[in-house]
Amino acid sequence: MESNASAPGIERARGIGPQRARILARIGIRTINDALLCLPRRYEDRSNLCTIACIQEGRFATIRGTVIASAVKPLRRGLRIFELTVNDGTGLIRAKWFNQPYLKRNFRIGQDVILSGTPRRNPYAGGFELDGPEYETVEGGDDDLIHVNRIVPVYRLTEGISQKQFRKIMFSIVGEHAGSVADTVPRGIISRCGLPSLAKSIREVHFPEEVLETDSLNHGDSIYRRRLSFQELFLFELGMAVLRKGRVREAGHAIQGDGSLRGKLIQSLPFRLTGAQERVVSEILRDMKSPHPMHRLVQGDVGCGKTVVALMAMLHAVEGGFQAALMAPTEILAEQHYINMRSLVRGLGLDMELITGGPRKRRAEGVSAGQIPLVVGTHALIQESITFRRLGLAVIDEQHKFGVVQRTILRQKGVHTDVLVMTATPIPRSLALTVYGDLDCSVIDELPPGRKPVETRVFHASQKDEIYGILTREIGSGRQAYVVYPAIEESDSTGLKAAVQGREGFQRIFPDLRVELLHGRMSTQEKEEVMSAFKAGEVNILVATTVIEVGVDVANATVMVIVHAERFGLSQLHQLRGRVGRGAGRSCCLLVAYDPIGEDGRRRLETMTESGDGFRIAEEDLAIRGPGEFFGTRQAGLPDLRVADLVRDREILETAKQEAFSLVDESPELRDYPDLRRDLEVFWQGKIESFMTA
Ligand code: ADP
Ligand code: MG
Repeated sequence: MESNASAPGIERARGIGPQRARILARIGIRTINDALLCLPRRYEDRSNLCTIACIQEGRFATIRGTVIASAVKPLRRGLRIFELTVNDGTGLIRAKWFNQPYLKRNFRIGQDVILSGTPRRNPYAGGFELDGPEYETVEGGDDDLIHVNRIVPVYRLTEGISQKQFRKIMFSIVGEHAGSVADTVPRGIISRCGLPSLAKSIREVHFPEEVLETDSLNHGDSIYRRRLSFQELFLFELGMAVLRKGRVREAGHAIQGDGSLRGKLIQSLPFRLTGAQERVVSEILRDMKSPHPMHRLVQGDVGCGKTVVALMAMLHAVEGGFQAALMAPTEILAEQHYINMRSLVRGLGLDMELITGGPRKRRAEGVSAGQIPLVVGTHALIQESITFRRLGLAVIDEQHKFGVVQRTILRQKGVHTDVLVMTATPIPRSLALTVYGDLDCSVIDELPPGRKPVETRVFHASQKDEIYGILTREIGSGRQAYVVYPAIEESDSTGLKAAVQGREGFQRIFPDLRVELLHGRMSTQEKEEVMSAFKAGEVNILVATTVIEVGVDVANATVMVIVHAERFGLSQLHQLRGRVGRGAGRSCCLLVAYDPIGEDGRRRLETMTESGDGFRIAEEDLAIRGPGEFFGTRQAGLPDLRVADLVRDREILETAKQEAFSLVDESPELRDYPDLRRDLEVFWQGKIESFMTA
């Protein structure tokens, strides 16, 4: 039941011409199926409308009445207000719309209208008024069937189409097409889960006849809505199951290492691996030694030491006669990994190459000839010109910055390459298992010993002197500081403080210190120079944008100032804070907030001061932002979820997962389910076809 290019286009529906089709395309409706899956934003009970006499202040209400007056009235400074007066036989109510005089055209005296909004008492005129309510006119005929006397759906719209027009289109599409939607999920599964049919569910979700409680409809509790979520989550998990199965059955290299390089590395490290690091390394090695390709996700909070775990895996690949590559999301991070790792592996007599945006022909040759066993780079690594002789392991650092597609390309640089992805954006485990369902999951749940929590405090923008005081004290005792801004340069349009001006300001206040700037628009060489000066301790204050968000590791930096902290997401704040607290010294994170901070902003800042635990913070982040934005599913190459909500529908997700995985176990290529297979391919937009060509 999913949409695709070859499914019946929306212009086939009655009443839809090319112009309407263009308007609908703006809200993602291109096919009949898209329309069927475009769920109401909310429901309104118009079978039992409230009378004007019964209206209560501040309580959302929908009323129906007859227009008795309509007028555009002038206000101060050329502003105008459109007023409509409506009578329903029990009383009068006035509706007002500011600066929309053209609305007058939409209403005639004597016409029936429906108004929904939150009433307010008008102290001057007496009675109630509605500020910019949603409205619909009622014409009789069909209208009585579709728009009144029932629970009606209210949809999310775009310009150029009214609620009423849209609802009418939906009414006709649902009536004509819901019945012919193929229910491709095996019947046994549907009945085991006690779910109603797809056709019935689509009808009920749009124009409820059975569930007549608007509250439960609005909360998404109806079994019919849950059925549609199940449909979507089942296809989602079925794709995961197929990807996973394909990989498990695929032959891979059983990479055997003798541990010689790893042993030497351990001896040369200035620390001992934590228990969690050791455990995760052994989970990785077990995968690499098995004859199937590895696909493992390592989750671990900022600073838990994922890099050395990756290096251990890379050395295992080299011991086994393979090359290993690590891909990082930014040049700064790739370079830093390169500098750190190279000094370690040189001691083991190994060569390492860096491949980023700059000139790299000669370097790339060494890689493709197989002379260079270890490679670190950025996106540049997945360009066509880069080839490997024998790539055994691909590591992807900070997975949340890449997508499934890039992961796949890098993997395809080798044959049956093992893949290790690492992320510091931990997500609740139950969700990780389902959302990254095609990956095995390892968690580094322990920080290296001696880490002290980073003291986190919120400052108002007016408390600058206190911040300067802390900087003076820390830098005076030989420490270094980061100051992060949300933008590179100030502009009138955003009104935000920015890095370029910030650097000048700090330099003025601390004329004797070295204050440097780092942002994404500088050349690679400039960035490199600044970063290495900072690492060498020559720069006291590094003023930067979020280019330093991930990975940057300078233990002597103990102060992180985040300007406009109210603007940053929780995960980002947590990542930025993770840049300090890496050495033996005490560190602090100063969150500088500007008005207006907003409800969500306040909640984020509070969470930051209360918790240093990335998993806790990720859960809170998920709750604040909602799953769509949190996972950035589109960017990650996962199919979009239009009906289901990963948090609200967690239980459905779990059931869908179990059913999908057991179906694929029993019928790996879904041979007995050709229709389901087609739905699956459409849902995943062809991304998993190749795994099923048997
Ligand atoms: P992340 O997991 O955020 O990528 P890194 O790998 O950058 O963390 O490690 C953070 C810092 O901790 C580095 O300086 C690293 O050398 C150090 N480190 C890693 N493992 C240990 C350990 N077991 N004991 C002490 N320090 C460690
Ligand atoms: Mg890292």
